[in-house]
Amino acid sequence: KNAPPNIPVILDLAAEQFPDRTYLVYQNERVTFSALQLAVRKLAAEMRDTYGIKKGDRVAIVMRNYPQWPLGFYAALSLGAIATPMNSWWTAEELEYGLSFAGVKLAIMDLQIYERFRDHLDKLPELKNVLIARDTTEEIADPRVSSLDAIVGHPNDWEDLPDAGPTGVEIGPDDDATIMYTSGTTGKPKGALATHRAVITNMFNSSACQARMFLRKGEPVPAPDPDAMRATLISIPFFHATGSFAILIPSALRGDKVVAMYKWDAGEALPIIEGEKISAVGGVPAIAWQILEHPDRDKYNLSSIQAISYGGAPSAPELVSTIKKRFPEAAPGNGWGMTETCATATLNIGEDYVNRPSSAGAPPAAVELKICDPDGNDMPAGEVGELWCKSAANCRQYWNRPDATAETFRNGWVVTGDLARIDEEGFLYLVDRAKDMLIRGGENVYCIEVESALYDHPAVMDAAVVGIAHKILGEEVGAVVQLKPGKAASEAELRAHVAGQLAAFKVPVEIQFQDEPLPRNANGKILKAELRQRFKARA
Ligand code: ATP
Ligand code: MG
Repeated sequence: KNAPPNIPVILDLAAEQFPDRTYLVYQNERVTFSALQLAVRKLAAEMRDTYGIKKGDRVAIVMRNYPQWPLGFYAALSLGAIATPMNSWWTAEELEYGLSFAGVKLAIMDLQIYERFRDHLDKLPELKNVLIARDTTEEIADPRVSSLDAIVGHPNDWEDLPDAGPTGVEIGPDDDATIMYTSGTTGKPKGALATHRAVITNMFNSSACQARMFLRKGEPVPAPDPDAMRATLISIPFFHATGSFAILIPSALRGDKVVAMYKWDAGEALPIIEGEKISAVGGVPAIAWQILEHPDRDKYNLSSIQAISYGGAPSAPELVSTIKKRFPEAAPGNGWGMTETCATATLNIGEDYVNRPSSAGAPPAAVELKICDPDGNDMPAGEVGELWCKSAANCRQYWNRPDATAETFRNGWVVTGDLARIDEEGFLYLVDRAKDMLIRGGENVYCIEVESALYDHPAVMDAAVVGIAHKILGEEVGAVVQLKPGKAASEAELRAHVAGQLAAFKVPVEIQFQDEPLPRNANGKILKAELRQRFKARA
């Protein structure tokens, strides 16, 4: 047997090696590797025979982290179709955009999402069919819509499905595997197109970073224990690159369990960590903090936790020491990556992280990083510029966006849009997003610096800094602030507070207050484009 490296092969190997190990857990639903393989084969056969799905067709998966998410994902991939996950938080208009932009032919969604979006179905002639997961479709008269459960049944019964066998579709490593939408932090989400090779390569980046840490110390890299049963509590959606490429697929490779929740809630996570003996938690930094600071933390046995890792957004250096204090046995990790790099490109872990708590790590052997000026010339070590990343795990293009592709993908490099510096030892320090910096009359203002000064005020709960267009200066500093409940602070007081820490030109000229939480996307990132629109241009 000489299997080409592609994503569905990983599930097949797991089903062969660890047939009875539990792979997916959602509430009282438990799915083993072999049960998922049977369901994937059944669904893939149906998708091919009834819905005509063939290689290269786009199949959307739009739902929460139910077991049917990986089912639809692997089934699409095993037909050589391009799995196109969509943000389950999206409005009907955003879903219409995501589905029509990728020319999706079949969408697998849950009933709640279907109901949100059904009036838009007629505007999408390319979308031929919708499969509804986890509900009957008896009351839906639309002939395009049918039930996923009617094909595969309840997840707990997947183990009894007859084996429909492999699809027989040949999938090479350079075939397209997925279109993953970026988070849409800086504009409309772009569909990053990844090959099977890129996704598979990315899976090894985290362990290669770990290996690098040992090699740097001159120590042998410990061999993984094949019998260790690890379990990840997934707090982020499968539809983000990290959820599927850094958690879902690598877990299959190792025979590990993935435990999903309806939605993230630290209080609900604690008994799950104890009950499922969770070894890895994390996601974005906020999730790590919520576990560490939860008042019920000591009521549960959380000793199974071996790794607390996160990325996707800046994290405070104190997070590392807090993890070491509360979970001395656990390895903290901070990873940097983006949808375009198929998730984690660098990871700072263990001692290296404790010693450099504001670094996102040094790249593993397969990843190359450099810092460039705006013209693409290399900059010396230690200077701040734009981060470029070259890796076999990179996407090579955006779907249907030649303009954005030309801007971002250059000769194997991804031009990241992140401002960073790399020290003499090769450790990466993120400074800000290039677009999250504003230039006021020629002076650079990193939003994060002003945000940190605002956070430092005892009444401030959340803060976001954006540029306000200014006729002469180009941009001025604006801020949106949510105060802690029951606390008060005036605009003048906050301005004086920032002025006590930063140069005068960095002090916000306008601060807007709001009671509701700041608008964030599903990955916990503040939607700055939306906030920017709230400020009137100044002259
Ligand atoms: P869009 O590209 O649509 O504007 P996005 O860039 O937020 O959205 P993602 O691909 O989900 O979409 O996020 C990647 C970005 O997240 C990186 O470019 C970087 O700005 C940020 N990021 C990732 N990891 C870290 C980290 N460890 N520390 C700080 N920022 C990070
Ligand atoms: Mg981006």
